[in-house]
Amino acid sequence: MQLSEILRQNLNSVLDEIECARQRSQFAAETVRLVAVTKYAQPEWVAALSRLHPVFGENRPQQLSDRAAELPQQEWHLIGHLQRNKVRLAVTAAALIHSVDSLRLLQAIAAAAESTNAAPAVLLQVNLSRESEKSGFSTQEIQELWPEILQYSSRIRLQGLMTMAAATEDPEQARPVFRELRELRDLLNQHPQSAACKLQLSELSMGMSGDFVPAVEEGATLVRVGSRLFAGLDGE
Ligand SMILES: *Cc1c(COP(=O)(O)O)cnc(C)c1O
Repeated sequence: MQLSEILRQNLNSVLDEIECARQRSQFAAETVRLVAVTKYAQPEWVAALSRLHPVFGENRPQQLSDRAAELPQQEWHLIGHLQRNKVRLAVTAAALIHSVDSLRLLQAIAAAAESTNAAPAVLLQVNLSRESEKSGFSTQEIQELWPEILQYSSRIRLQGLMTMAAATEDPEQARPVFRELRELRDLLNQHPQSAACKLQLSELSMGMSGDFVPAVEEGATLVRVGSRLFAGLDGE
């Protein structure tokens, strides 16, 4: 089978599963966008997929920036950890940064936004699986820091929350983490200062190849899927 045919089949089966999950759950969002994660994909796969799907995610700012220069019509999201020395690159090249995992990083993004006159869109990464190797705010931290975080909402477009569940064989094991992220978003939206700042978080970035179905059922608005899209291609 041809590259483009394999990609089309993989893409359609993922999109179908997203839509079925969306329709059967009362907690599902009205629209769910697929972020096709291209971090391990060969350049020709990325080019072929760009003719089928408009939103791509990359882990590293440099690769994102390089690939965005090749395919500027795509919408590029940064999904991986961002170091403060790469903030300017991310702010200029990414349409959405999913992985803001500390107040210091948020401050650095605000400074870069100021100096480049950009208005970056970001998600705050929350560590709900409580694995120490995963980065992100804890539930308690984000609630305590919320008034401080809101101070950046004039310069930065705070659009929602992102999380990663622990890797498991059984996607159902991830469901409580996804539910917790939705409940946390709703809680932050009810904070009196959110209303005062006219801020409502709408996005929930959650779910990957192994667990996007329960993520959609629990309200994901963005799912980040990589390996499922490139299955059956050499090197995958
Ligand atoms: C790689 C990656 C994904 C996609 O993972 P797959 O299991 O290949 O779908 C999603 N989110 C983040 C943050 C990633 O680093």
